[in-house]
Amino acid sequence: MIRYCRQCVMPDTKPDLSIDAEGTCSACRYYERRQDIDAPARKAELLQIVDRFRSKDARGYDCVIPVSGGKDSTYQTLRMLELGLNPLCVTATTDKLSALGRRNLDNLKDLGVDCIEVTPNPALRRRINRLALTTVGDISWPEHAAIFTIPVRVAVQMNVPLIVWGENSQHEYGGPAGAAVDSVLTQRWLQEFGGLLGMRVSDLVGQDGIEVRHLIQYTYPSDDELRRVGVTGIFLGYYLPWDGYGNALYAQAHGFETYNKPVEGSLVNYENLDNLQTGIHDYFKFLKYGFGRATDLACLHVRRGRLAREDAVRVVRLHDGKFPWVYLGCRVEDILRDIDMTLEQFIAVCDRFTNKKLFVCDARGALVKDRDGNLAKINYDNP
Ligand SMILES: [Zn+2]
Repeated sequence: MIRYCRQCVMPDTKPDLSIDAEGTCSACRYYERRQDIDAPARKAELLQIVDRFRSKDARGYDCVIPVSGGKDSTYQTLRMLELGLNPLCVTATTDKLSALGRRNLDNLKDLGVDCIEVTPNPALRRRINRLALTTVGDISWPEHAAIFTIPVRVAVQMNVPLIVWGENSQHEYGGPAGAAVDSVLTQRWLQEFGGLLGMRVSDLVGQDGIEVRHLIQYTYPSDDELRRVGVTGIFLGYYLPWDGYGNALYAQAHGFETYNKPVEGSLVNYENLDNLQTGIHDYFKFLKYGFGRATDLACLHVRRGRLAREDAVRVVRLHDGKFPWVYLGCRVEDILRDIDMTLEQFIAVCDRFTNKKLFVCDARGALVKDRDGNLAKINYDNP
């Protein structure tokens, strides 16, 4: 039986999340503590940091901003421009970019910034997608490796010490205490919390024809290189009030486009709009841990008083963890063809990564699915 937080709807199966004696999860506790933050002091701290790192002679950039074109990176870019900085935006091209994602990235550039877009070999990327899906159950492994590595590489190459990341995902999504204290993104943070599931870049070498020379863009700079430039990565979400919905509203006022309906498997239309493989990524989270993107979003809105908990339980049940037949209008078969996998093979991989303790099985222990291939959880709330 899954145990759920009694304030939000987060399950205790989420890695690194804990539920305390009163039944409240660590992410809700973090959010409570956040209300006591001295916001003006945090803002002042940010201004100090920015001044320390600002380019002295205007020949270099003031900071690097890792951007996807999404609501958060649009918001980060706007905030840095408002502080009078001259940022260099860096995009690690996503796995399978949607047309909407491309428009939003172009919109971000039009805010008035220089942007470098780094595209690791797409043909090889698809091989890594397939390998990661079949070995660690995460098609988006190369995505996570690239988005946390490429901006750091560019910072080193361009001699820009300050990197301005968005939010620390270990905060509001819940994570070990040590991860939530840090306002700084380091290589250690990436390895522990960047979603790499214990698979290292070096583990790919020798598999499916992958060689060391193919992995340059996935390779983190050395400590010596980082020290030489003095690379420091900060989370903007630590210094400024951070709410995905608010960020989306602000980004929309500056040309950011949303999807024409809530994204499949989600509750909202304003995030995860760029990578067509995200539906598969989110589905595997559901198979392993019994919750998907709808749960994440419901929790954010419950904590901010925008959704009642009882309604959250209902809408999560409606939308979470449905078989990802379509994502942003793209059929799963079309996504799988890219990575050279049939639908039957995909379903077999899904079953292999499904935690059977969380889902209804028949008398012989086989997973019970409806005619659309959807699983049923054993429990959707606390009894
Ligand atoms: Zn909670």
